[in-house]
Amino acid sequence: MGIGKIGVVGAGQMGTGIAHVCAVSGLEVTIQDLNPDQLKKAIEAIDRTLERQVAKRKLTGEDKQIALARIRTTDDFSEFGDCDLVIEAATEREDVKREIFRTLTPHLKPDALLASNTSSISITRLAAATDRPEKFIGMHFMNPAPVMQLVELIRGIATDDATYEAIRALCEETLGKQIALSEDYPAFIVNRILMPMINEAIYTLYEGVGSVEAIDIAMHLGVNHPLGPLALADFIGLDTCLSIMQVLYEGLADSKYRPCPLLVKYVEAGWIGRKVGRGFYDYRGEVPVPTR
Ligand code: NAD
Repeated sequence: MGIGKIGVVGAGQMGTGIAHVCAVSGLEVTIQDLNPDQLKKAIEAIDRTLERQVAKRKLTGEDKQIALARIRTTDDFSEFGDCDLVIEAATEREDVKREIFRTLTPHLKPDALLASNTSSISITRLAAATDRPEKFIGMHFMNPAPVMQLVELIRGIATDDATYEAIRALCEETLGKQIALSEDYPAFIVNRILMPMINEAIYTLYEGVGSVEAIDIAMHLGVNHPLGPLALADFIGLDTCLSIMQVLYEGLADSKYRPCPLLVKYVEAGWIGRKVGRGFYDYRGEVPVPTR
């Protein structure tokens, strides 16, 4: 099963990174978003990241131009008709993803594979809402996708061996990534472990155990995490963090996954992290400043 043409749905931070990785690896990419501004920003971001790779001599200037020429943008799924694989990387909400699959699938060729980059939502349930559950898989890239080595793969109950094998080969042989295979339970492996830690860091702030800076420096220098948990939450997006905690809380019916009320408050304020310039830190000045 040759995969040469990829569709990416959602041009946010993940869709942008996934398009970048695919184009640099020699694949043709079409990226779609509802919001034309996001598509423009995605191409600008890919251009900037490619330029950094050229400066670090990881790519030549010619490689950069070739990679950029492989990427098309669209607001219309009818341009996905020749894609061998479509990777959905839209907002972490099940209703949004279901609606995307409902409107996307009539445009796909019959043997096209479908993947979701969801951080937490049931692959089995998303797959069941499509016309091809056996060709559907979870393909969870890490942020930023061009830098991070891992792609977590999640087989739904119906995912067939040919689909799994084609996606494993794509990740390992074409994209040069490493994979970890997870069973399809809420938030899979990475976020089942990471997100309760981030939620607990927010409780630590909420209960006044430490300040934003104290919590982040404690985990950065004390546990050797490259980023403190609150800075990491801002990087991921607090809306995405809250959605993942809700999936854990509802999916496992255990109060230990209760989203921290302070996380809910930040999301209600629209202070959802770096992508809007403000979360646990304010990024609008020269240096990030804690917002509490
Ligand atoms: P984001 O908010 O940066 O981007 C989401 C994009 O989806 C936006 O550009 C939005 O316009 C677009 N969108 C929303 N509805 C759409 C629709 N109906 N059709 C087309 N586009 C639509 O979010 P993100 O951080 O890129 O996350 C995207 C997905 O990747 C989520 O499922 C998230 O859980 C997952 N993910 C996120 C991270 C992370 O660290 N942020 C890591 C791994 C996976």
